[in-house]
Amino acid sequence: MATNQNNKQINVEAFFKISYGLYVVSSGSGSKINGYVSNAVFQVTSEPAQFAICCNKNNFTAELIKESKLLSISVLKKDTDSKLLGVFGYKSGRDIDKFENVKYMTGVTGVPILLEDTIAWFECKVTQTIDFGTHLLFSAEIIENNLIDSSGEPLTYAYYRDIKKGVSPKNAPTYIDKGHVQAAISDAKKYKCQICGYIYDPAAGDPEHNISAGTDFAALSDDWACPVCGVDKSNFEIL
Ligand code: FE
Repeated sequence: MATNQNNKQINVEAFFKISYGLYVVSSGSGSKINGYVSNAVFQVTSEPAQFAICCNKNNFTAELIKESKLLSISVLKKDTDSKLLGVFGYKSGRDIDKFENVKYMTGVTGVPILLEDTIAWFECKVTQTIDFGTHLLFSAEIIENNLIDSSGEPLTYAYYRDIKKGVSPKNAPTYIDKGHVQAAISDAKKYKCQICGYIYDPAAGDPEHNISAGTDFAALSDDWACPVCGVDKSNFEIL
């Protein structure tokens, strides 16, 4: 429970019932380009076709959008590579070039447009910026767009949280195996990634890397990497 401005209790769990999509919002021009994973993208009008994008002020991409007044939105596909989500979602463009190893193009306005794991994209010009304290809300008009995969299913935040992190029952071992495995790993410890918050649970293993349920953290090879953000084992701490 948390409280609102009038000290009235609000149930934060209720926020998880709001549904979102996941997108990569990019900006910049020339040598300074960046993008980040956003769940705050929505269409606000159809005539003209406009979007609203909400972005944390500390975000490097927010800086680039303020400067250039330009941005692009890439709609991610349902089975987007976790590594891509790790790079665009958990690392800063101040430290690395996020576009270094991914497929992208430069739009007519000069902004980068991520094409990797993308089913549709929009290149936009910012029309208004509203300051919300910690965040900036940009409204933006569409200049160009393209539908890359008409049958592609978009990635939702709920899917990412429940399935991509490997905690879904879908990733669990079969019923018979589960009973066997659970007995063997009753003392197995969970480890948390200090970068992205992903929790390695021996009971679930890491389906992304074909690590079967029942594998202790210590038994993971040294080149194993966090399935969400891609950092190595040294970034994990016992829970
Ligand atoms: Fe991580």
